[in-house]
Amino acid sequence: MTQQLHLFNTLTRSKEIFVPIQPGQVQIYTCGPTVYNYAHIGNLRSYIFPDLLKKLLHFLNYEVQHIINFTDVGHLTADTIDQGEDKVEQAAAEQGKTAWELSRFYADAYKRDLESLNIAFPGKFTYATDYIQEQIDLIKTLESKELIYSTADGVYYDTSGFPDYGKMAKLDIEGLDAGSRVAADQKRNKTDFALWKFSPADQQRQMEWESPWGKGFPGWHLECTAMVFAELGQTIDIHTGGTDHIPVHHTNEIAQAEGASGQPFVKYWLHGEFLVLDQSRRMGKSLGNFITLNDLIEQGFSARAYRYLALTSHYRSFLTFSDEALKSAQTAYFKLKRLISGLRQDQERNPDLATDYQDRIVEALCDDLNAPKALGLIWDLVQDKGIGGKHKLEILRQVDSILSLSLMDFTDFPELHLEIPESVQTLAEQRWQARLQRDFKEADRLRQEISEQGFDVRDAKDSYEVVSLSLG
Ligand code: AMP
Ligand code: ZN
Repeated sequence: MTQQLHLFNTLTRSKEIFVPIQPGQVQIYTCGPTVYNYAHIGNLRSYIFPDLLKKLLHFLNYEVQHIINFTDVGHLTADTIDQGEDKVEQAAAEQGKTAWELSRFYADAYKRDLESLNIAFPGKFTYATDYIQEQIDLIKTLESKELIYSTADGVYYDTSGFPDYGKMAKLDIEGLDAGSRVAADQKRNKTDFALWKFSPADQQRQMEWESPWGKGFPGWHLECTAMVFAELGQTIDIHTGGTDHIPVHHTNEIAQAEGASGQPFVKYWLHGEFLVLDQSRRMGKSLGNFITLNDLIEQGFSARAYRYLALTSHYRSFLTFSDEALKSAQTAYFKLKRLISGLRQDQERNPDLATDYQDRIVEALCDDLNAPKALGLIWDLVQDKGIGGKHKLEILRQVDSILSLSLMDFTDFPELHLEIPESVQTLAEQRWQARLQRDFKEADRLRQEISEQGFDVRDAKDSYEVVSLSLG
């Protein structure tokens, strides 16, 4: 059955049927982290939904070209007003490292987080500092279209020359709060933004480059657009990021890209809603209230349980994070896997019903990535007594290639490390022997005895393992 993918497009504020520019191929650009600190679990939420999308597209037989960038220069502490310190240079100075060392260190830490969360790497990670020439060339193109001007501190985009400015964000430019976009001394319009900032005369920056306008460094918005152009082209299918990017970063990206090329930049803009703490407090790197994935792992949580938690809410809804919420998610996640671990490969019954579940799970995901609904259907499938274990496992394998919850990997069960009483070990060994002799009735009886003692056995090809049923 062919499924039609629908995605909510921020441009139109509606769910649209997804039609790629080139049949069978999809290009995705995901705004990556600013690498001056560890990613927090909120940031990481913004990479789970593009991963789900990418795997769904693979499942639907699309070829996907995916880029995630690293913002390793140019993101300022007061980025909405193009003022403040460069976050990377500032953190490097505080930590006694070079900006280059620091940004590579956090980029690598981010990659490890992705691995822990089963997030597939993009085809390419791009570092903004590797695309300086492309960024300068993009400013030159904008210059040829008379869309830039220079001030004492940098080169700015003249948003009055781009009539559609702020369209996606539905910005009320007249009424824009001056406080949120203060016009710098010589800015012509409050929405104008820096393409290139000059190095301060009295200060030697670590990251700075010559340019036709003066020595300096690129603006954060320019970087992403230049990397999209360099790696994917002037019009791409999908661009993703967090909702905070809508009013400034992505608004500015559209102005740069469309101002330069005269072509529509992105067909589908997808934005993930924020992870918040209790009382809707936002989690932010710069707010200093953040939790990293490693913090959770050190507290004894499985990284995949965090992925499970993230998938229990739709990517466009707020996710309220608390220890309690994660604990419940982990309990549910392990319980689901325990049920899966008990499924019997040799049970055949109602394969069509199982396929019907698969269709409904994929259909839920095709409906703007409705992961919570897909998870609910997985629970129903696993517990459906009418379907044989063999078929359930086949479907779970298929859908887990999209959800990436490691549903068939039981290594993160904490109770695997519990001591197994000798009586249980003896029963397990007797059961294994019965199985080898194909006395399945006796093997089942022994398994029942084992489960009455709170344990279960999992069979591999040539071995078995005894595990505890208690989830604590
Ligand atoms: P940054 O490293 O600050 O450039 O952010 C990396 C990504 O995380 C961006 O797509 C942001 O929109 C996103 N992001 C930042 N804070 C949160 C949050 N609390 N919840 C979800 N996503 C966030
Ligand atoms: Zn970006």
